[in-house]
Amino acid sequence: MAILSDNFDCRSFLEGETAAHGLAAAAFMALTPARLDELRRRLAAIHFPPELSEYLKKSEAMRRDPAMAFPWAGSILMAAVPFSILPDLSPPLPRAKSPDTAGVIAGYAARTDYHLYGKMLMTELLANLEQATDKMFKVEICIDTKPLLERALAEAAGLGRVGRNSCILCAGSGSSCFIISAMLDLDLPDVTVKDTAPLCHSCGQCAKQCPNQVIGATPADFKVNRCISSLTMEKRGLLTDEAMHLLGSNIFGCSVCTAACPEGSLPEDFPLDLEWLLLAPSGEVRRTISGTPVEYAGVTLLRRNALIVLGNKNSEVSCNLIKEFLKKTNSQLLIDTAQRLLAR
Ligand code: SF4
Ligand code: SF4
Repeated sequence: MAILSDNFDCRSFLEGETAAHGLAAAAFMALTPARLDELRRRLAAIHFPPELSEYLKKSEAMRRDPAMAFPWAGSILMAAVPFSILPDLSPPLPRAKSPDTAGVIAGYAARTDYHLYGKMLMTELLANLEQATDKMFKVEICIDTKPLLERALAEAAGLGRVGRNSCILCAGSGSSCFIISAMLDLDLPDVTVKDTAPLCHSCGQCAKQCPNQVIGATPADFKVNRCISSLTMEKRGLLTDEAMHLLGSNIFGCSVCTAACPEGSLPEDFPLDLEWLLLAPSGEVRRTISGTPVEYAGVTLLRRNALIVLGNKNSEVSCNLIKEFLKKTNSQLLIDTAQRLLAR
C-alpha cells in the first residue's frame, strides 16, 4: 500500500477540488481494521427489501463488507455531486408537442448520464491526487455499478445524512446530489470537507408528496413495489393493472420525494414526445437516448412505459397513438401491454 509523505495536506487538497468542481462535499475515509469493524456493524443494519433484483441479492454479502469486495483498499475517496451541475444534452431529447402525448422523465435523467459524468469527474480528481501526492496507486471507481452501499458509506464518511426519502442529504444541496466513490490502495487519514450537522428535519414532505404512499416511518416500511422509479426502471415484463395506474404520467424515474426535500435544486422534469418514442425507428431512439440514464432502460421498456402512460391519459389522441403503434410492433410484451390498455 502506498504511504503519503508528510508534506501532502489532505484537507487542502479536498477543499481545492470541492471548490474547483462545485462539489457539495468530499471526504477521504481510512479503511483501518477498527473502521472496517464499525462499517460492518453499520452496513449489517441496512434494510434490503425482499423484492431486490437477483444481482443485488447475490452481491449482498459483499455490499455489507467493503473488505470482502476490495481487500486491497486502504481508503475511499467519496464526493457528493449536485445534480444541477450535470451538463445539458445537445441536442436535447424530443419534447412533447401536447400534454396528450407527453411522458415525464425525471429531470436528472434528461441530462448527461450522471454515471458517465461522475466517472469523468472522479478520473480528474484521481489524476490530481496522483499529481499532488506524486504516488501511483491502484484505484477502482464505483458509481452505482459496484458492490458498495454508497449512501451508507457516504454517511459514515460524513458527507451528509440519509434522509427519510432514502437519499443522501448534503448541506446546501438537500437530497439533490449523487455520490461518486473510488477505492484506493493508499494509506490516507479521515478528512471531510463540508461536514454538517444532521440534515433530515423529519418534515415529512417527501412522504406527504409521494403520489403512491411509498415512504413509511422507517426504511423497512418503504413499499418498493409502489415506487414509480422502481416500476419504470427495474420492473421488467408485463405490469399488473394496479402497477400501470401507479405510473401516472412517468415513463422513467420520479423526482417528487427528492424535490420535496428543503434546500434541494433539481433539474426540471422533462416531457418526452411519446409519438416520437413509439413511431420513430428503434435505431434512431437508441442513438438519441445514448449517453443518458434513460439508455439503461432500453427501448422496449421505455415503450412499455410510454404505452402505459398513454393508457393512463385515456384521451382520444393517446388511445389513437396506442392503436397506431399496435399495428407496427412485433414485440409480444408491447402487444400484450397495448391490448390490455385498450381493453380497459
Ligand atoms: S423531505 Fe423532509 S423528511 Fe423527507 S428527507 Fe427531506 S428533510 Fe427528511
Ligand atoms: S420516487 Fe416517486 S414514487 Fe418513489 S418514493 Fe419517491 S415520490 Fe414516491
